[in-house]
Amino acid sequence: FANRHRALSELIRGSTRFGDRPYLVTEYGSLSFTAHYRAVAAIATALRTEYGVGKGDRVAICAPNCPEWIIAFWATVSLGAIAVGMNSMWTAQETEYGLDLTEPVLLVADGPRAELAGNREVPVLTVESGIPELIDRYADAELPEVQVDEDDPAVILFTSGTTGRAKGATHSHRNVLAACWFHLVNDAVATELGNPPGYRRFLLVTPLFHIASLHNLAVARLVDGDTAVLHLGRFDINEVLRLVERERVTNWGAVPTMVSRLIEHSQLAAYDLSSLRAISVNSAPSSPELKQRLREVLPAAERSLGTSYGLTESSTAATLASPADLRADPETVGSPVPTMEVEVRDVHGNAVVDGTEGEICLRGPQMMLGYWRDPRATEASSAPHRWFRTGDLGAMVDGQLRVSSRRSDLILRGGENVYPAEVENQLSTHPAVRECIVLGTPHQDLGQEVAAVVVVWPGIVVTEQELRDYVGTQIARYKVPSRWVITTHGLPRNATGKVNRAQVRLTSRG
Ligand code: ATP
Repeated sequence: FANRHRALSELIRGSTRFGDRPYLVTEYGSLSFTAHYRAVAAIATALRTEYGVGKGDRVAICAPNCPEWIIAFWATVSLGAIAVGMNSMWTAQETEYGLDLTEPVLLVADGPRAELAGNREVPVLTVESGIPELIDRYADAELPEVQVDEDDPAVILFTSGTTGRAKGATHSHRNVLAACWFHLVNDAVATELGNPPGYRRFLLVTPLFHIASLHNLAVARLVDGDTAVLHLGRFDINEVLRLVERERVTNWGAVPTMVSRLIEHSQLAAYDLSSLRAISVNSAPSSPELKQRLREVLPAAERSLGTSYGLTESSTAATLASPADLRADPETVGSPVPTMEVEVRDVHGNAVVDGTEGEICLRGPQMMLGYWRDPRATEASSAPHRWFRTGDLGAMVDGQLRVSSRRSDLILRGGENVYPAEVENQLSTHPAVRECIVLGTPHQDLGQEVAAVVVVWPGIVVTEQELRDYVGTQIARYKVPSRWVITTHGLPRNATGKVNRAQVRLTSRG
């Protein structure tokens, strides 16, 4: 695979071998691999002919999940141009920031997003009418031949911005293709062990501008011929469960918030979810408690629950935990995928011994080229010999990684380190606690003190003292929060369901 594929356009050309099999299924219909190829060939030709899109040009895509998003993406990268996955939940100001940073020659957007970008002079092609019209007009077009080097940039995706302003992680053709290798290796291993993956239908509910959607679901499907079942619109647990039932979804990579909605659902048994063969919880920290409750309510999770750890910068998973790994250690994020090296390092950049906490560093062919037009951030995240510094803290034990927190979230309380995830995991085992977040807040003597924002289940009353006593029996005294906010309001989250700590910090200060 690595020798045969050098440019993403080869994936598109190769996908025609899957013929009439559905590539994309939505609530409203389906698109076969052949029809998808024809649409991509039409749009690529139209982008070149009508908008002059050429190699290295940026095409920004800003719309909620829809098949046109995916077609525009493939058309752009087939031309050797760079697809910029803009966050469709951004405000006008954030959208302008994304456009100013990447200077696209074209914006593919839905009506509301096109309006947000109104202050910037960039031609707009709408997903509602523009893309369908061009697919008709160029129905007989062939995919243009473009010479692309595997190290040419192909995609810019923004980091979620939970630690500051979003940065444009830039991936080359090689980076994106490398993310497919380990899927193939995993499948080959499974087949060798007598468990061939067979035909699968993957649920796609996270936004397409998120790396996990794009790579695990959109890209990998072109390699293995499986189907992506795309939920349109905002996440609604009832609609999603109906889709799983109707489309016989087999695989679901969920983020922790979706898992919470599943667990809270009072009528799960009303849906036929028997098609589900594998479920994993990815993209953000998830407590052992959450995973255990999921196993209890969902038979597929009982058999198959796995997890992974990765970043936008690493083009999807850097480590994977199998169901057996998770049972042995509920806090593990697993072992490195076959194409990734993981090393835990101290503050001087030296590798630490097993079991010792340090910064997680990654190296492999799927690590991004760098941050778009941000040499300072690129430099700050780089270490010699192509290592990438994740900014995450963790430890390796017997080849398995544990992630303890973001370096920037670590609480330094009077010379002691407090890992928010450890306290959050303990707190979330209390039956009154729906979700929680633990933060450091400024303290005159200690530098920082530990604060907790706890969201309780509606109608349940719990006091600060009760929670304090509860965690006090499980963790050392210095880790027990001294400041508490107890509320029934949910925590602010970004588009992928990750808690926006910066916003919680501001709100709790206010
Ligand atoms: P920013 O870098 O702008 O703050 P972000 O890091 O949230 O944004 P992403 O690339 O979406 O942007 O998320 C990657 C981060 O998510 C990782 O660095 C890690 O902190 C966290 N993460 C991902 N998977 C897991 C996991 N299984 N367990 C714990 N944390 C995880």
